[in-house]
Amino acid sequence: MRYKSLIFIFIFFITCNSEKDESEISSDSEVLNIIKYDISSVLDEFDTREGFSYTIDNNNVTFNTDNLPNHTSPYWPNSNDLFEEYNGSNSNFRINPNKIEAQNISITVPKNPSESINKLATSLGAIGVARNGVVFFNQYAGPNNQPLTNEINSFDQWLGHPTGQSVYHYHIEPLYLTKQYGEDSFLGLLADGFPVYGPVENGEKVTNNDLDSYHGHSHVTKDFPDGIYHYHITSEDPYINGNGFYGTPGNITN
Ligand SMILES: [Zn+2]
Ligand SMILES: [Zn+2]
Repeated sequence: MRYKSLIFIFIFFITCNSEKDESEISSDSEVLNIIKYDISSVLDEFDTREGFSYTIDNNNVTFNTDNLPNHTSPYWPNSNDLFEEYNGSNSNFRINPNKIEAQNISITVPKNPSESINKLATSLGAIGVARNGVVFFNQYAGPNNQPLTNEINSFDQWLGHPTGQSVYHYHIEPLYLTKQYGEDSFLGLLADGFPVYGPVENGEKVTNNDLDSYHGHSHVTKDFPDGIYHYHITSEDPYINGNGFYGTPGNITN
């Protein structure tokens, strides 16, 4: 009996000990691989105004936006000063029946984004916020990954359009912002806190081949001299984001 119980205790000890070691090894290696970035340096670049603001707490930045574009569009109600007939370059432009209306959208992003072990797919609706307070949408026109093919013809002269719920949004390059700030500029954040840059870098056009499957890569940018993971908007599908968020997205409500 004494030997049996001793053996039992011994086995129990080994089992517990090996489990403990494994969990220690995996948590240590996770900690070693995770780089925590800090996005404080780009917050000043958001064009805040009445209707678009952000607050900062220990871990998060929360953007509150009415989502109204600061530029012209044929989707404004005709009475609005920013109403302008379509004057873009797409000869197939076809206006959709929707109009721009104020929203009440809140997007919380981590102040110190880091790579997520499990990458979450983006969903329909807002996936991030541009520096003018308008939301980014993903590369799909609707459920079951419907491509943007037909929607593209309803993008206005600045390449945005409103949903049936009057939510104006950009699926592709927000032309007003790249015209205003430059094609290599910081354009906004996705909900995981990682920055979105324009379609040019160091004077060269960025292509999907330069990016990973989430549509980003890591290196130094003018806003982040120590380097950061960032997305680029390219002229090719999937445009802004690919297979999901590189980091962990915060809450989006509207
Ligand atoms: Zn759309
Ligand atoms: Zn880059």
